[in-house]
Amino acid sequence: AKRHGKSQSSTFDKTMRQEALNTLRTQMQLREAIVRQQFEVYYQPIVSLASSKLTGFEALVRWNHPKRGIIGPIEFIALAEETGLIVPIGQFVLKQACTQMAAWHAKYDEAKDVSISVNLSGHQLNSPTLVAEIEAVLAETALPPSAVKLELTESTLIDDPTSAQRILKRLRDRGIQLYIDDFGTGYSSLSYLHRFAIDGLKIDKSFVDMVGRDDRKAAIVPSIVGLAHNLGVGVVAEGVETRDQAQTLALLDCAEAQGYLYSRPVPQDQAAKLIERKILG
Ligand code: C2E
Ligand code: CA
Ligand code: CA
Ligand code: CA
Repeated sequence: AKRHGKSQSSTFDKTMRQEALNTLRTQMQLREAIVRQQFEVYYQPIVSLASSKLTGFEALVRWNHPKRGIIGPIEFIALAEETGLIVPIGQFVLKQACTQMAAWHAKYDEAKDVSISVNLSGHQLNSPTLVAEIEAVLAETALPPSAVKLELTESTLIDDPTSAQRILKRLRDRGIQLYIDDFGTGYSSLSYLHRFAIDGLKIDKSFVDMVGRDDRKAAIVPSIVGLAHNLGVGVVAEGVETRDQAQTLALLDCAEAQGYLYSRPVPQDQAAKLIERKILG
């Protein structure tokens, strides 16, 4: 029994070591990817539920790996957060997405009121150069600040409430819009709503999935939409996949929606075609 136990634990050690090595390898590859500029921005449309008109795009990062092809953020964002590499990656996404949106504004009349939403990590919010970087991007692109929406998760806001508050106020005073991402998935969603002046909420897909069910869970989305209305802020339903969901959300007066029903996140050339189409879904 003793020998058996020993061999089991060395198998376990091996697995642990293998995992640690894999993480280390991915971390090295991530660093290399930053230097070699292997990141790309994909764009997922956001539409008005009342008119099905395109109102914006969310910028979502992809890693274009030389051997593995396009890799989604689920495979590397957590590690990028842990290692702080999310700061240069996020900086790239912000600059790329704003530059692209400014180009679309210049090229298409239809894009005049289309905004760009960019995810902001807590690390970026703690970076002393964030405000200057955003100022520089706005100056370079001549994009109106009101066309830029920053998405922050509840955990980002909770990390360092006072410093985050100060930085976010500066950005908002500049006219940049602030949205709370994945709303409802954190544990103190309501407590910071009065601490941070925000412009809108994004309802997490896990709640949108409950729309149309006939049990208590179905009441969550109407409650969040009602909360947004009472606060006088915008509200976007994420992960809308069916026409039924879109119809129900429209009846609730949820302003905007994003999801596979309209389009998956797509590269910039396909996103441009969506701008030309104007009405989606
Ligand atoms: P998120 O900010 O909640 O972004 C929405 C995610 O839901 C995207 O996944 C999008 O593809 C997916 N999605 C949208 N509609 C649907 C739908 O109808 N059905 C389903 N099944 N999924 C849908 P993605 O692109 O894989 O991104 C995952 C997460 O990675 C994002 O979640 C965000 O937290 C993070 N992320 C992506 N890009 C960035 C970035 O540039 N910076 C930071 N800090 N995080 C990022
Ligand atoms: Ca987001
Ligand atoms: Ca989200
Ligand atoms: Ca989400």
